[in-house]
Amino acid sequence: MRRQLAIFSIAMPLSIYALAQEHQEHASLGAHEHGVASLNLAIEGNQVSIDLDSPAVNLLGFEHAASQPEDIAKVAAVQAQLHHAEQLFQFPADAGCTLASVDLDSPLFAEHEHEEPAHEDEHETAEHEHEEHNHQHADIEAQFIFNCAQPAALSSLQLPLFSVFPGLQRLNLQAITPNGQLGAELTPDRPVVSFN
Ligand SMILES: [Zn+2]
Repeated sequence: MRRQLAIFSIAMPLSIYALAQEHQEHASLGAHEHGVASLNLAIEGNQVSIDLDSPAVNLLGFEHAASQPEDIAKVAAVQAQLHHAEQLFQFPADAGCTLASVDLDSPLFAEHEHEEPAHEDEHETAEHEHEEHNHQHADIEAQFIFNCAQPAALSSLQLPLFSVFPGLQRLNLQAITPNGQLGAELTPDRPVVSFN
């Protein structure tokens, strides 16, 4: 990393800051602890954005690339569940929030986005089995954006997320709301945060 920074400082001084920040974010994310995930939430005008960063095992039950049919089916099911984020994050009905977009990012999702020739698939299967033996870790990052007709009514957030994904035991929430910043630790027993 130090070498990368040195190269960038000569070539593109302006990007150093962004690069350093990116590394910092990844470093803080580096606390890859099974059962724990982070949730960053921001309420801005009519929009609520939610960033979820989680070890893949919390949502999927495994972290190796899916090669067996049941694993591939599980990956597809989890992607579908994340795309129905209105069933994972619930705001007061009065706020009139609707899900506007979902953006998913994970090394375990990537290969399903484009078709690969059959012979490469076979090759990859062998590689994945190898990875499995190495106990590689993988994260799932997801960004959800909700539009809310009455943002003044955004008094709380409830997280059915915990019931949908029992592997998730603790969520470290950081929120920026019109009332200021707050941090909270949410669990299956305490799946609600108040913004008042
Ligand atoms: Zn892991």
